[in-house]
Amino acid sequence: MGGHHSIADPTQTALLVVDVQPDFLPGGALAVAGGDEILAPLAALLESARFGVRVATQDWHPPGHVSFASRHPGRRPFEVVDLYGHEQTLWPDHCVQGSAGAALHPALPWERLDLILRKGTDPQVDSYSAFRNNWDPRGDRPATGLAGYLRERGVCAVCVCGLARDVCVRWTAEDAAAAGFRTTVLWDLTRAVDPAADETVRAALAARGVAVANDEGSA
Ligand SMILES: [Zn+2]
Repeated sequence: MGGHHSIADPTQTALLVVDVQPDFLPGGALAVAGGDEILAPLAALLESARFGVRVATQDWHPPGHVSFASRHPGRRPFEVVDLYGHEQTLWPDHCVQGSAGAALHPALPWERLDLILRKGTDPQVDSYSAFRNNWDPRGDRPATGLAGYLRERGVCAVCVCGLARDVCVRWTAEDAAAAGFRTTVLWDLTRAVDPAADETVRAALAARGVAVANDEGSA
């Protein structure tokens, strides 16, 4: 086994591609500016031999999901409300199960994926992270099972990319680190809903022990 700073064995490193779906790309229901710019480098990364396990998440909400502003009378998208004792941002309707906007974006070679993890399927609970749902009415954040899947595959390090940097990528990376995985966010392969929050996001990731790197510097 190598030291802490050595390059990880590819077979022990997983790539997590978060929510690359038309609704999160320019023209989509919850468009992230510049999201289309990461498609080509993400495709190349998926085609590479750098990762032993490749996982994608797919935001996959039933109609009328609790995270939709349309579910909350008098509320508008991007307002923040209290939900089960925690802050919940209300979003435009997005990634409704079976809709075109919820599909895995056709620009990526999805046949390279080992696992596609759908999240946000509980009508009453949001799910930003690939590892745990947001808080449920009991105050729990139930696990998705991804940590166990990765451990059973021998994975000890994960690289996180996709959309959006300040929401689902951030939460996925923080939970990955909390679950004990050596975690890196591939910053240039993410884009933010709110780029003004970039420094806050960097600080939060650092505080949780998550590394930030640019993919171009590690190829
Ligand atoms: Zn969602």
